[in-house]
Amino acid sequence: METSSLAAVGFLDSKGMAGYHYSNREKWSAWPSTVAIRENMEKDSVTTTINGVKLSLIKGDITQQDTDAIVNAANPGLMGGGGVDGAIHRAGGPAILEECKQIVASQGRLPTGKAVMTTGGNLKARHVIHTVGPVWHGENRKEAELLASAYEESLKLAAANHLNSISFPSISTGAYGYPVDAAAEVALEAVISFLRKEVIAIREVDFVLFDSATFRAYSSALEEMLG
Ligand code: ADP
Repeated sequence: METSSLAAVGFLDSKGMAGYHYSNREKWSAWPSTVAIRENMEKDSVTTTINGVKLSLIKGDITQQDTDAIVNAANPGLMGGGGVDGAIHRAGGPAILEECKQIVASQGRLPTGKAVMTTGGNLKARHVIHTVGPVWHGENRKEAELLASAYEESLKLAAANHLNSISFPSISTGAYGYPVDAAAEVALEAVISFLRKEVIAIREVDFVLFDSATFRAYSSALEEMLG
């Protein structure tokens, strides 16, 4: 891993060319998009622009994000759990669970593919959007459709609440067992098509990916889609 303090990010301009930005903004050169994205897979983030919205893949911990909302890969009972769900509740404190309980009391368990929003409690993010991804059973139970819906419903909720920025984890690829390469394609396709067709306040969408293998899977899928 390179230890340079220069934060390198790749992007695609309106002509489909990709650039390679450094934080000092002095060095810039145009690259074919595949080159920019592949170069940045060596780093901890990849950034591109879709319809004026900044889309980034970041290797990191979603509980540390300061976007307006972070998305939780929850379970239908909304009572917390392991993985990213547990991490969000631990970092955000009891106010999140309190609101989750009220939601379940008033509208029942959250169906797969749907989303609800609560406070962010002690998190830097003001809101948590809880969505339920599908459990992987082998593609025959509308897994891809339900996974895409989890991303879309979260984006719709963020847009309806006029949020400017949102961070997603890799929904369903932990305890729910969705193969990460396939999930990355579905996730990026769902988000990119949403951003292309909707006119919304959202200006930034981040995928915050916890480990290198997940980050690589999303980077490859993005390269495949835009490269
Ligand atoms: P699911 O039940 O939807 O599969 P998990 O929480 O088990 O959800 O896993 C989803 C993904 O979230 C996995 O890639 C896991 O490594 C990742 N993850 C776990 N903790 C964090 C965190 N703090 N920030 C971002 N991603 C996380």
